[in-house]
Amino acid sequence: MGAPMDLPVSLTGTASGFLDGDALVQAVRDIAQGPLAAVAQECDRQGVYPESVLRQLGAVGAMGVHHSNRAALGQAGLPADFGLAIRAAAEVSRVCGATGFMVWCHQVCGVYMEQSGNPNLGGEALARHMQGLTLGATGMSNPMKTFAGIEQFLLRAKPDGDGFVVNGTLPWVSNLGPDHYFGAVASVEVNDGEAPREVMFIVRCDAAGVELRNCPSFSAMEGTNTWAVRLSDYRVDAGNLIAHPVRPFIGRIRGAFVLLQTAMGLGVAQGAIDSIWKVEQPLGHVNQFLEDRPDELQAELDGLTARIMRLAQTPYESSNEHLIEVLDVRAHASELALRAAQSALLHAGARGYLMSSDVQRRVRESHFVAIVTPALKHLRKEIARLSQPVMPTPAPAQAVAA
Ligand SMILES: Cc1cc2nc3c(=O)[nH]c(=O)nc-3n(C[C@H](O)[C@H](O)[C@H](O)COP(=O)(O)OP(=O)(O)OC[C@H]3O[C@@H](n4cnc5c(N)ncnc54)[C@H](O)[C@@H]3O)c2cc1C
Repeated sequence: MGAPMDLPVSLTGTASGFLDGDALVQAVRDIAQGPLAAVAQECDRQGVYPESVLRQLGAVGAMGVHHSNRAALGQAGLPADFGLAIRAAAEVSRVCGATGFMVWCHQVCGVYMEQSGNPNLGGEALARHMQGLTLGATGMSNPMKTFAGIEQFLLRAKPDGDGFVVNGTLPWVSNLGPDHYFGAVASVEVNDGEAPREVMFIVRCDAAGVELRNCPSFSAMEGTNTWAVRLSDYRVDAGNLIAHPVRPFIGRIRGAFVLLQTAMGLGVAQGAIDSIWKVEQPLGHVNQFLEDRPDELQAELDGLTARIMRLAQTPYESSNEHLIEVLDVRAHASELALRAAQSALLHAGARGYLMSSDVQRRVRESHFVAIVTPALKHLRKEIARLSQPVMPTPAPAQAVAA
């Protein structure tokens, strides 16, 4: 696979091009407002997959700064920076929600690879992934919903020698291509009386037993390269194993999984606020009578961003309190994106109702932010479950009598 456009990249991580902090955010903004803005409309409606943009984002470091070892970016010694990864992905989503979603797909796949501790998925494979030289994705909606009691596992794994064979179909996995890969979970066939268990693994799209099937057309995000994936006796072994058992692994990464996703909501909301300001000069005289004015939305967005940046300092904390807060900021980001996108449409009027307008595109993107797993309903269900008071263990009868 060739190097990303224009920028020199090396596996040793000594090449220039990878940036940190505000310089990275500015470079991502330039890519988003330049080459990405030029294809955002085609990406939304015509299924144009913005692969070269994803590779450019990788080439400046946007895909790798949340990893604990940043040597692949020539940044050895710098700590994992989830806040920066979220800021970068939000800049992408501000211009194109579909591409922002794919940045998340790739970033979270990197989390699976790193946290697996599997040397076959770490090392050089992770270094290439962090640079965007290879592209990854995630098929975790089904297991996340199954663990929350709202769906059943769609993939089944049968023990086979020192590995497993997996069968089943995932209805939608985005950011796929012939040489891409993604993380997935299958329930393991167990004997009667045995506790249920699962296995998590990387699926390589070019491996034996993997078939990509067309999805129906969506109301937006057509360029996300979203496919149904059918697995037929797909082999899982030491080469592609992420976790077995899976539940403790998910317990460790789910805060990071959800937190990284907030970038989509932040970016879509910011893009909507930008659109409102653009019509302020001609339409402010009447728009002042609307609710959700841009300065109000911006104050709410800045407060939410500050909360997310604080949570991003401890992405792998697994306490209930932390997780509830993470779910809450993810829900707030969805609600704010919905409200800001709708407000932008009301502010823009007919010009925002044109099919070519980014204002109406963002309304549809905000719907996706609210329905992609974990959807708003799923988030609220989990927050309710985790917020239930823990019942005190009843004291033994004797102790009560005493
Ligand atoms: C554009 C797009 C991209 C996505 N990308 C990914 C991805 O990269 N990785 C990933 O893991 N998931 C992906 N998903 C799935 C997404 O995260 C949700 O899990 C999915 O939209 C179903 O959520 P739900 O809340 O509607 O489920 P529920 O309301 O709980 O519905 C239950 C189930 O019914 C099925 N269903 C309902 N109606 C239909 C229908 N008309 N056609 C087919 N099935 C139906 C769905 O499979 C759904 O899971 C994507 C979905 C979309 C629309």
